[in-house]
Amino acid sequence: MQVVSTIAELRTAVAGARRRGSSIHFVPTMGALHEGHLSLMRAARDKGDFLAVSIFVNPLQFGPAEDFDTYPRDLRGDLVKAEAGGADLVFAPAVSEMYPRGEMQTRIDVGRLGEVLEGAFRPGHFAGVATVCAKLFNLVAADRVYLGRKDAQQVAVLQQMVRDLEMAVEIVPCPTVREPDGLAMSSRNQRLDPEGRRAAPAIYRALQAAEAAAATGPVSAEEVARAARRVLAEQPAVRLQYLEVVDPDTFEPVESVSQPALVVVAAHAGPVRLIDNVIVGTV
Ligand code: AMP
Repeated sequence: MQVVSTIAELRTAVAGARRRGSSIHFVPTMGALHEGHLSLMRAARDKGDFLAVSIFVNPLQFGPAEDFDTYPRDLRGDLVKAEAGGADLVFAPAVSEMYPRGEMQTRIDVGRLGEVLEGAFRPGHFAGVATVCAKLFNLVAADRVYLGRKDAQQVAVLQQMVRDLEMAVEIVPCPTVREPDGLAMSSRNQRLDPEGRRAAPAIYRALQAAEAAAATGPVSAEEVARAARRVLAEQPAVRLQYLEVVDPDTFEPVESVSQPALVVVAAHAGPVRLIDNVIVGTV
């Protein structure tokens, strides 16, 4: 496995793989790798050829009051995991390599999809995500990019960007990987204190309650949301930020779950902000 930190080295490595006739598969991450990231790498590996992984905590996607400084970082541990996960190349640039001071002015605005839900609570977040991903997709020139459904709105935002800009890359959404108690794996879980860690699985239990309510037949979105909120209300250590039943493509609220709908949730456990989602109303 090759590890590079400059754009020039990355381009050379990718060009070499192309010359050898490999297709390029790409898993972008912010590091502190866990089983969720590794599942994306395995999905990419199954398709064979050349697997590139990026590790970059992207300052553009963090608000001023958010956790950029305290976001977990462990490059050494990540390299061991990436190698075990079958990566051929890890790109781990410094912030100054991705955004040379004063030179990086462009932002990608994906419109309404970037402004609702996560975008409403984290203004500028999706412009930061779309911008860094556009840059990474250009650099890696990947045929396929593997993204986790844990960040469902991020998948939708990046699919919209790829469609709108006719980028020659296929996005492959992959299932959410969970801890045995249901908590969606996240780098941020490392920062949960013992009480927060004990309480956090209530988020997934709430989503399961939503699934159960939706499975009873045609039902209003409000009833589904109420079933989920009831579970969270029993767990005061988890502070709900939003829980909505939305259209899986537009992320706009739906009235009923006669069609498949996404139940999306964001909540705090102590200082740690967690998100999760499930799809409901499928046959
Ligand atoms: P991050 O490092 O958190 O920015 O995540 C990098 C990629 O891994 C994104 O596509 C995430 O959606 C994905 N990912 C993070 N957590 C999980 C998980 N628990 N299951 C599946 N994919 C995940």
